[in-house]
Amino acid sequence: MSLHQFVRDVPDFPKAGILFRDITPLLANAEAFKQAVEAMAQPVLNLQPTHVLGLESRGFIFGSALAQKLGLGFVPARKPGKLPLPTHKEAYGLEYGADALEIHTDAFGPGDRVLIVDDVMATGGTADAARRLVTRSGAHPVALTVFIELTTLPGREKVQGLPVFSVLRY
Ligand code: IMP
Repeated sequence: MSLHQFVRDVPDFPKAGILFRDITPLLANAEAFKQAVEAMAQPVLNLQPTHVLGLESRGFIFGSALAQKLGLGFVPARKPGKLPLPTHKEAYGLEYGADALEIHTDAFGPGDRVLIVDDVMATGGTADAARRLVTRSGAHPVALTVFIELTTLPGREKVQGLPVFSVLRY
């Protein structure tokens, strides 16, 4: 089964000129979603992560499935103002717009090994902000794993030094 067939191309979303890769058909197919999570898990098995950091919002979906599969704790990196206690915050520029991510200051500690998870890497700005959050909290970012990597953008350069794994590449 090719997982490409479960990704829809949506032109001009959310803005003119952006080709949006829509993964909702993949999520709606039990076997395809299962295969996607298995493919994301395989390359990180030997990295000995202790936690998954899922990036709001679609990183929560892949990240929590992956955390369960790998037997790891799950930490959400949230958009500003959503977490109830003191946070670390890192801003980033997006392919379309600007935003920031937050984690609780006590989310990680020294010795924690964090696998960063999202659905798509485009410019790498979101993932890089997540990496800075992990580092600021005293933990070690072991890798970034995404379902889709847009290879026409310099995402890997942005997160240089962090191993990147992807299942589908466009
Ligand atoms: P980046 O920061 O430019 O790498 O953008 C990655 C973030 O934007 C991720 O959190 C994705 O969920 C979202 N994103 C960017 N492009 C797409 C797309 O084509 N489909 C789905 N999400 C996207």
